[in-house]
Amino acid sequence: MEKYDLIVIGAGPGGYEAALEAARGGMRTALVEAGEVGGTCLWRGCIPTKILLHTAELAKEARQGGPIGLEASDVRVDMAKLDAHKDETIRGMAQGIEGLLKRQKVDLYRGKGRVLGPGRVEVAGETSLELETKEILIAVGSTPAPLPVKGIGLEGVLSSDQILRDPRPYESLIIVGGGVIGMEFATLYGALGCRVTVLEALDSVLANLDREFGQSLRMILKKQGVEIHTSARLEEIRREGEELTCLYTEKGAPAQASAQAVLVAVGRRPNTEGLFASDWAPPMERGRIPADANGRTGLEGLWAIGDVTGGIQLAHAATAQGLNAVACMLGRAPGQRLDVVPSCVYTSPEIATVGLTADEAKKQGIPVQVKKQAMGGNGKTILTRQERSFLKVVTHGETGVILGAQLMCGRATDMIGEFSSAVANGLTLAQLAGVIRPHPTFNEAVWELARS
Ligand code: NAD
Repeated sequence: MEKYDLIVIGAGPGGYEAALEAARGGMRTALVEAGEVGGTCLWRGCIPTKILLHTAELAKEARQGGPIGLEASDVRVDMAKLDAHKDETIRGMAQGIEGLLKRQKVDLYRGKGRVLGPGRVEVAGETSLELETKEILIAVGSTPAPLPVKGIGLEGVLSSDQILRDPRPYESLIIVGGGVIGMEFATLYGALGCRVTVLEALDSVLANLDREFGQSLRMILKKQGVEIHTSARLEEIRREGEELTCLYTEKGAPAQASAQAVLVAVGRRPNTEGLFASDWAPPMERGRIPADANGRTGLEGLWAIGDVTGGIQLAHAATAQGLNAVACMLGRAPGQRLDVVPSCVYTSPEIATVGLTADEAKKQGIPVQVKKQAMGGNGKTILTRQERSFLKVVTHGETGVILGAQLMCGRATDMIGEFSSAVANGLTLAQLAGVIRPHPTFNEAVWELARS
């Protein structure tokens, strides 16, 4: 029987990065994967959505290019070609990861990993085998949560996994759930010229972010013809001829909407079913494995990171948590700051946040000062014809230390890195004010805000 120092179950960005780090640190490491190396992020999440969004946004900009001398009003997206490009890109990236694993001598086992007991893992593939190890790291991720309503199994009712596997040029699409996935798909299909309707049960889209994001995005998408219904709870889906009809209640009153397809994006649930074969299992909460920032589950020799822990379901958080877990296994100090996790939404303009919002800080009794900078006067924002863009920075009312930032602007998802460093290192706005930003950039707005 093969013996390892570490067996990682799940080769997403949490698992494969942890495996590489462990191997670099001298641990004999195995990685068990039932599907494809790269996990949700590479095959059914971050990467495919951004590939599709890139083409869709280019097409939208080209269609609207008349006023800036771009004559391409009849631009069309060839979905079959775009899909093939997406698949080829993903396969190339997966091969890159496999190459890294080989180079670091991480043994990759293809099959479903199951924890048999302390230090014992089964790999159920074409033939099953058992492995032994000192440490087990669970990084099995999550899958789209099902919605218990009538008609959910109808053809054309899709999860984000399904729509990304086979993206089609729908003429109309209903999106159930106005969270991060829902709003990214509304942006994507809206840019592709599809008639999009969003049904969100809460009173705002992107409800767990700063309220101004949801309100601004709603106005921007409305201009593109995306219809957003809030306080709208899906009750049933029916097939009526070529179309699917969603019956829902909006602020309590019955309503309905029809489209060619329905995307259900109402959250994700951890992949823990059947993961533990014996009583040797951590206490779980609704399928998730609670773990701290370093992946400790409370069971000696068992670690868990990423979506399966049910905390922040973001690829970069999973990677950071995995690196910390491996550092602990190696007896080193964990180096990743899991208390400062930036979060991004790839809408247009992009949205990015880090740290505390003003409301969150106030709830914690922290005196705050909020500075907001509308970016209507920012050169790069004007010349790239961005929609309503702004930055908000929350500082400690007494010390001026930056506690959080909320951005909605061009390249917000890149710009948030600056604020992540600022929050993590306790920098003040005054310190940011004395650093030159290049011109013309979106980033100049940070300098303007800091000096205002
Ligand atoms: P979410 O929790 O962000 O949003 C789901 C939404 O569905 C909620 O607003 C909820 O109120 C709504 N909803 C639930 N039941 C409903 C019903 N019956 N009718 C109408 N609306 C209903 O979940 P998500 O958007 O599925 O995303 C899952 C996870 O994936 C999130 O944690 C997110 O952070 C992560 N993710 C991140 C990115 C990114 O970082 N860019 C992209 C995609 C997903």
